[in-house]
Amino acid sequence: MTKVAVVTGSSGQDGSYLCELLLKKNYKVLAYDRRSSREIFWRHNYLKITKKLNYRYFDLSDENSINKIFLENKVDEFYNLAAQSFVKSSFDTPVSTSDVTALGPLRILEAIKLYQPKVKFYQASSSEMFGDTKNLTQNENTKFYPRSPYAISKTFAHYAVINYRESYNLYACSGILFNHESPLRGEEFVTRKITKQLSEIYLGKRDFMELGNIYSKRDWGYAKDYVEAIWKMLNIKKPLDFVISTNKTTTIKKFIEICCQILNLPLGWRGKGLKEVGFNKKTGKVIIKINKNFYRPSEVNYLRGNFAKAKKLLNWKPKTDIYKLAALMLEYDLKN
Ligand code: NDP
Ligand code: GDP
Repeated sequence: MTKVAVVTGSSGQDGSYLCELLLKKNYKVLAYDRRSSREIFWRHNYLKITKKLNYRYFDLSDENSINKIFLENKVDEFYNLAAQSFVKSSFDTPVSTSDVTALGPLRILEAIKLYQPKVKFYQASSSEMFGDTKNLTQNENTKFYPRSPYAISKTFAHYAVINYRESYNLYACSGILFNHESPLRGEEFVTRKITKQLSEIYLGKRDFMELGNIYSKRDWGYAKDYVEAIWKMLNIKKPLDFVISTNKTTTIKKFIEICCQILNLPLGWRGKGLKEVGFNKKTGKVIIKINKNFYRPSEVNYLRGNFAKAKKLLNWKPKTDIYKLAALMLEYDLKN
């Protein structure tokens, strides 16, 4: 029988790749998003999946719209990818971020408990929960120390999943995913901002770009690899939480250097702190500036995930290194 999967946040980066994967696996995919006055399905258009999806509307802050999902459909797998997902914005809108990103998943868990307790539920947890970690690598047992309203909300949802699994015997699990990027990543996130704006500089359409803290380190993987792990988590015998990562860590500055290397843009650095700039060694022109408006009130300085459990129990490992990832993103941005 055809399996029915609900994907919330289907219009986002991960939602789009996951819908593509589920369609390939012959699922009937119910793509749930909130209504927007702007065009939100550009990623689906790019992946050519628009005609194969069943579109529906809901909002994580609207309990009735969540209950309706279960009253109107018999669901096998439920992937909750929707969230206010941008850390920097969560400092500006902490209350609505918590309503959506923390209470949203709780509303879904309650609905599953009440209406369809056999549904398999996936929650998109985040490495941001580790926050100000002191551990050299982070795994499923590492202590959380969230550093933003976004991370606090994700930590709440993470524990809600564990509690509903233990209290009501639900198949509910969380993927603690480290940062993952792609050509379809939102333009406000740092990797995509860099590949897009560096492409514009390369093509002579922009003079310079501005960034915040370029010394934080992230464990960056490829979103298309990561949605495979998400699917696997709902297709093993029992629900478990997993770290999904590459076990490598890179500064923002190094990511810029990798991109410039791929573009053949000779990059030099000079200055310190807010006065640090990146310049084109051939022309002398400054192409990267630091702007304190892009700093956060509190920063996550270092993340590096240990994915050993996923390797052992899901037979999953990342396939795409940071050089290949940057090249994929630059190729897309140069073309578009
Ligand atoms: P995106 O920001 O690309 O997608 C998030 C989706 O959630 C969008 O479709 C967004 O719609 C939707 N959404 C936001 N608010 C609501 C709401 N109130 N009701 C319904 N839908 C809403 O994120 P990603 O695809 O990159 O990430 C997917 C999930 O994984 C998110 O939960 C994110 O927090 C989490 N995550 C992501 C990581 C990453 O590196 N990408 C790392 C770890 C976790 P709209 O466009 O209207 O805002
Ligand atoms: P996050 O890890 O979920 O917050 O993902 P982001 O891509 O938004 O940010 C990754 C890191 O890049 C954080 O440490 C940011 O402080 C840093 N960063 C530096 N400059 C910028 C910028 O201009 N935009 C964003 N989004 N992040 C920046």
